[in-house]
Amino acid sequence: MSARSKFAGNAIEEEDAFAARLARSGKSIIRLNRGDPVAYFPTPKYMVDAYVRALRSAKTGYSFHAGIPELREAISRRHRRLYNLNSEPGDVIVTQGVSEAIMFINSMLIDGRDRAVIFRPYYPLYFSSLRINGGKPIYADYMEDEEYGIDIDSLRRRLRNEKRVKYLILANPSNPTGSVLERKALREIADMANDHGVFIISDEIYDEITYNGATFTSMSEVSRGIPKAIFGGASKSFDATGFRIGYTIIPENDRFSAAAREKMADYAKMRLSSCTPAQYAFAEAIKNARAHNAAVRKMVAEIEDRTNFAYGLLEESGNLQISSRPKGAFYLFPKVEMERTDLKDDRDLVRRLLVEEGIQITRGSGFGAHDHIRIVSLPDKETLEMAIRKIDKFLDRHSR
Ligand code: PLP
Repeated sequence: MSARSKFAGNAIEEEDAFAARLARSGKSIIRLNRGDPVAYFPTPKYMVDAYVRALRSAKTGYSFHAGIPELREAISRRHRRLYNLNSEPGDVIVTQGVSEAIMFINSMLIDGRDRAVIFRPYYPLYFSSLRINGGKPIYADYMEDEEYGIDIDSLRRRLRNEKRVKYLILANPSNPTGSVLERKALREIADMANDHGVFIISDEIYDEITYNGATFTSMSEVSRGIPKAIFGGASKSFDATGFRIGYTIIPENDRFSAAAREKMADYAKMRLSSCTPAQYAFAEAIKNARAHNAAVRKMVAEIEDRTNFAYGLLEESGNLQISSRPKGAFYLFPKVEMERTDLKDDRDLVRRLLVEEGIQITRGSGFGAHDHIRIVSLPDKETLEMAIRKIDKFLDRHSR
């Protein structure tokens, strides 16, 4: 295997095969590791119907590499409607999930010795994809005690001394913390990126999943004229992870943005097409704003209720500390004081929790934050309560 392939993998799924083996041997497993809303909220029927219609009308061939025109148009209009973003359908590249876009972007921008700013805790693929391409991260740490604010001044100081910083990437709303950045913080990040000539990548795949009073601001609203890429897709806000459809909008007209658009399309040509019937179904999902709004509102109200319920249980727990209430996405990211346990590290914790209690979660180190665990807050309350109480009991048993 190549040396770089050592960075391949994903902490979220690393125990899947082992968990499946346990399940086959008769153990019941509660899976709180994967952020798949479809496991708890079926994809809305009008989207499934649109998918079936596409299949029945033989929309089963390769599509244009960067996506079918109807979808690129629908995405461009969606961002104009929601975020007042001026973009053309030609600024949109459709990919097989945002995952593929992350891999394309790292391959096209990063050479060995290049650097990228990653807001930490991060989505695991940001790190692995950067490292696979030989890049090194510069971390911008969210401050845990202050609703996950960012120390922009120290990041600015860091960037003054760094060369070859190609981009910065952040997820807003955040996976794994569930925090949602305020407009002011976004503007500071945009200004800083502009001052240092760093391309902005804003992963907004959870854009419609905010609650607890948060309002979502798109990076595109505060960065007019600043080079950037915006990610979105079918997986989360549209509750269709298995469609495998994501997109990137690179809306500006500076030379770098134009080159990035072109290069990303070249990457799309290499894999010919993304899933064609899913593109037709997603185009319809976006265009049918009424059906979509009704579906997403219902799902988000449930997510808010379940996440708050789980947050309350964590607050009561003696073993897990959670510093601020999530306002978006569907995760909880509590801290565990590992040195007060007999567990080796968070990897050991995850493995033993699976064996002893049949609960699968994700280790914090997968997101760049040791001494944390990530719990998906999508299941019904009964399941969440059982799982969190078991995690607490498990930690009681392993405390010293
Ligand atoms: N970006 C973030 C922040 C995510 O949380 C996820 C999935 O959990 C992805 C991207 C991957 O999305 P997709 O299903 O579009 O590949």
